[in-house]
Amino acid sequence: MRLGECREECAVFGVYAPGEDVARLTYFGLFALQHRGQESAGIAISDGSGIRAHAQMGLVQQVFDEELLRSLTGNMAIGHTRYSTTGSSYRRNAQPVLDATPTGALALAHNGNLVNSQQLQQELLRQGTVLEATTDSSIMARLIAQRLAATGDIEAAVAEASRLWEGAYSVAVMTEGKLLAMRDPNGIRPLCVGTLNSQGYVVASETCGLNVVGAEFLREIEPGEMVVIDGGGLRSVRVVPAGRPAMCVFEFIYFARPDSHIYGTLLHEARRRMGHQLAQQHPAEADLVIPVPDTGWPAAIGFAEASGIPFGQALIKNRYIARTFIQPDQRQRELGVRLKLTAMREVLGGQRVVVVDDSIVRGTTKRALVALIRRAGASEIHVRIAAPPYRYPCFYGVDTSDRRELLAARLDSVEDIRLAIGADTLGYQTVDGLLEAIGLPRELFCMACFDGHYPVAVPDEVKARKFALEASPISPAATSKIAGDG
Ligand code: AMP
Repeated sequence: MRLGECREECAVFGVYAPGEDVARLTYFGLFALQHRGQESAGIAISDGSGIRAHAQMGLVQQVFDEELLRSLTGNMAIGHTRYSTTGSSYRRNAQPVLDATPTGALALAHNGNLVNSQQLQQELLRQGTVLEATTDSSIMARLIAQRLAATGDIEAAVAEASRLWEGAYSVAVMTEGKLLAMRDPNGIRPLCVGTLNSQGYVVASETCGLNVVGAEFLREIEPGEMVVIDGGGLRSVRVVPAGRPAMCVFEFIYFARPDSHIYGTLLHEARRRMGHQLAQQHPAEADLVIPVPDTGWPAAIGFAEASGIPFGQALIKNRYIARTFIQPDQRQRELGVRLKLTAMREVLGGQRVVVVDDSIVRGTTKRALVALIRRAGASEIHVRIAAPPYRYPCFYGVDTSDRRELLAARLDSVEDIRLAIGADTLGYQTVDGLLEAIGLPRELFCMACFDGHYPVAVPDEVKARKFALEASPISPAATSKIAGDG
């Protein structure tokens, strides 16, 4: 993997709570945030005189056992789960990242992606610093450590280092005595803070990470804000001037758990309203509305409500499967879908069905899914998608590879996409419908994946890598070449 290609949709968690079992609280927090990343998990813990960490490849439950959790004692901890991408699956990229300075150690957990990490790494190399890991998170930790070594002041060190970072970062940093959490000036990735009992604090990527440990939601950390938590309580420091808020709209559509709140909105409700919008924009003559589990559920409920078509469950997901594995060829990928989903012939036989899902990215799973539903006897398949066409790659932490892999970028029309996935009809959400469903103005979001307007400038060489579209347009039938794990 080249640097600058560190694509991560991750979870960040942190807790400051002397007297509590902070390792276990972090474990629970990461467990609730597992949907944000299943490749690796890690916890770093401080007892005031040093930092210890354990991070491994695997799910939170696989990485930590009772014995390990008992051995991790301290007053505060940070944790991380990492999303998996081809080429970057290395143990050394698992987080939290640790760095040491003569004045003490630090640990860092990051969600997002810097667009200038290559430039920052070159600068570090010029100074003679060789990093073991290849993630931008390790660069961020090093930049903080350099400044911490010089002054011994972690707040100033994070503040100064962060002025060099461009892109998306929701980050938790821990020293032996302090927990800090910060968001980039546009607030692209979520991060919130809550109180725990009377004296503790918790930070988490999503509110579901607060709820699981019994913390009470205080507020979202503001774009460009750093919160500092220590024995003196919680303080807020404005580190970089806030830019235009640009929360990733895909958090609303797919990433974040439906029971989480962002911008004060319960995501389940927003997604249900996306289904209402879809039913208005793309009605269908059908007998049954079915969700694609799990992320299609709320929009499918909404579609059924608004259309009056009965709601049913016809696809059963194996609940022990974390994701469709990256498969070497199309046949094996389709086997992967079959491993994950079963279609019930008894429910689908002879039925005209509306199939509701959150998005089409590469189209691989949708195509296999439509084939699965057809084989189970459905007479008509009407696919409805809660998101608008996904046309542009993300540079801020979503693993969408390059434009060649995005079905809606490769194919010119919705009709071509319909043919490619094999549906009888296909309807996508409009951007206006999406905003209406969310109930918030467009100015609060990053929608670059739909409109190509990137709120933080992406350097040309970084953009070029994901922007190449093959010169020759592909035929719909050729989409089986598209790789991916959607
Ligand atoms: P596909 O039909 O192959 O494009 O897969 C799209 C499905 O994958 C969506 O319905 C989501 O459930 C899921 N998905 C969306 N975005 C991503 C992503 N960045 N990484 C993995 N899965 C995703």
